[in-house]
Amino acid sequence: MSLTPFKNEPILELRRAPIRAQLKGALEAFDDEPVVQVPVWVGEDTRQGGALQSLDPGDPERLVAQSAVATQADVDHALDLAGRSEWRHVPAAQRAEVLIRAAAWLRARRLEVAALEVRETAKPWREADADVCEAIDFLEYYARAAIALAEHPAFDAELLQPPGERNELRWNPRGVVAVISPWNFPVAIPLGMVSAGLATGNAVVLKPAEQAPACAFMLVRALRESGLPASALALLPGEGPVGAALVGDPRVHTIAFTGSGPVGLEIVRRAVEQAPGQKHLKRVVAEMGGKNCVIVDSDADLDDVVPALVKSAFNYAGQKCSAAARVLAHEAIHDALVERLAGAIEVLHVGQASDPEIDVPPVIELEAQERVARYAATAEASGRIAARAAEVPDRGYFATPTLATDLPADSPVLQEEIFGPLLAVERVKTIEEACDRVDASPYGLTGGLFSRSPRTVDYVADRTPVGNLYVNREITGAMVGRQPFGGNRLSGTGTKAGGPAYLLQFVEPTVITENT
Ligand code: GLU
Repeated sequence: MSLTPFKNEPILELRRAPIRAQLKGALEAFDDEPVVQVPVWVGEDTRQGGALQSLDPGDPERLVAQSAVATQADVDHALDLAGRSEWRHVPAAQRAEVLIRAAAWLRARRLEVAALEVRETAKPWREADADVCEAIDFLEYYARAAIALAEHPAFDAELLQPPGERNELRWNPRGVVAVISPWNFPVAIPLGMVSAGLATGNAVVLKPAEQAPACAFMLVRALRESGLPASALALLPGEGPVGAALVGDPRVHTIAFTGSGPVGLEIVRRAVEQAPGQKHLKRVVAEMGGKNCVIVDSDADLDDVVPALVKSAFNYAGQKCSAAARVLAHEAIHDALVERLAGAIEVLHVGQASDPEIDVPPVIELEAQERVARYAATAEASGRIAARAAEVPDRGYFATPTLATDLPADSPVLQEEIFGPLLAVERVKTIEEACDRVDASPYGLTGGLFSRSPRTVDYVADRTPVGNLYVNREITGAMVGRQPFGGNRLSGTGTKAGGPAYLLQFVEPTVITENT
C-alpha cells in the first residue's frame, strides 16, 4: 500500500453559515434517533441491557445512551479471545489498511460523531469536530508509523554488521493491551491508544469512561466495520471495577491509561504485582493530570496573552489535562493582566455545547460542578475572586468561570488539579522565581511562557520540567505529528502520544544474530 505523507485532518470552518446548518441538521438527526444502546461487545457476541446511563450534562434529564456493564465473565471472555487472536500474524501493511479504512469511516460520519460528543460530553461543536479530526489523525499517523517500524526496524539504532554476522532487530507485539480511557476527548484519546495497540499487532480490550460509553462504541464500530477481526478489539463498558479487573489480570501485557493522577498511580502500583501464572512484566503507558502554569514576562504583549489564557483555561470548561490553571505574572504587568483577564472572563458566554456561539459549556457531571464550587469557595475564603462570568445558566451542570488571585502559596487551589474553569494568578518578582514555583510542583504536563526575550525563552525551556512547553500561544490543542503530547513527573510515564516513539510502548524488541 502506498500512502501519501501524513497530514492533519482539516477542521470545519464554523463561521460559514452552510457548515452551521449542517451541524444543526446533524444534531436534529441525532435527537430523532432512539437512545444509543451500548453493548458489551466481545468477539461476535453483543449483550445489551443498559444499567449505566449517560446523560447530557447541559440537560441531565436527556438520556443520551444506555450502556451494558461488563461482568467478570465478560472480562474473562474478552481476554481469552484477545490472547488467541490471529491479529498479531497480520502483516503491518494490512493492519495499517484497516486503520486507514477506519479513518475514512469516521471522515464520512464526522458530523454524526461530533453531534454525539456534543450531547454525551457537552463538547462544544468546534472541539467536538477537532476531537473527531484528532481521532482520524491518530489512525492515519499510527498506520504510517507501524509500517515504518516494520520496514525499518532499526530506526532507533542502525546495527553494525561485521563480516560473517547478520544482526536483525524485530519489533514484536507485546501482547494484549488494556485501554482505560477518559471522557474528555471521548473519541480521540481512546482511539489513539487503541489504534497504537492495534497498529503494532496487539489485540486490545477497551474499558471506556462511564461518562462516555456511546462515543467509545462509535470508535469500536469504526474499526470493526472497517475489517478489523472480531477477536482483535473488545468493548467492555462499565465503572471502576472493570478497569481494576483488567489491570490485575495476568493475561494483560500493556495497560494504556489516560485519566486522573490517583487512578494512574493505583494502576502503576497494581501493575507491578505478579499475578499467579503471569510470565511477564506489565507495562503501563499513563497520561495523568496536570496543574499547568503559564509564565508571563514583563515584556509580554497582553493583547496576545489574554485571549490565549482565556482559551487555555476555559475552553471546554477547563476540562483538559493540558488546561492552564496557574498564571505566574511578572510584578511589572501583574495588575494590568489581572484587570484585563477579569474583563475578558466576566463577558464569557457560558451556555449549551450545541450553541456554536458559546465560549464555555457545562462541566461533565454534578460531582464536577460541586468540586469546582468547593475550590472557588476556598479561593474566596483565602484569597480574592477577581472575576466571575456574569451569566451562567442554572439548568445543567454549569460551573462559573472564575479568576482568583492573592492566594497563599500552599492553597489547594494552587496545588491540586481542579479540572474545571478556575484560573489563579500569582505575582512573581523574576522569571527565576516563576521557574522555581513551576519546579516545586509534582506535575509536569504542559506549560506556557509569554516573553519577547530569546534569552528568557531559552532559560525557561532549559529549566521547565513539563512535557509540552508552549511559547507565546495557548497551551492546549496539541496536534498529532506536530506536538507529540504527554507529561513528566506525576503527570505520566513520559510517553508522547502522536509522536514517532509512541508505538515503541506496544512492542518488544528481539535481536536475531546469525553467523553466516
Ligand atoms: N491532547 C490534549 C491537548 O493537547 C489534552 C489531552 C487531555 O486532556 O488528556 O489539549
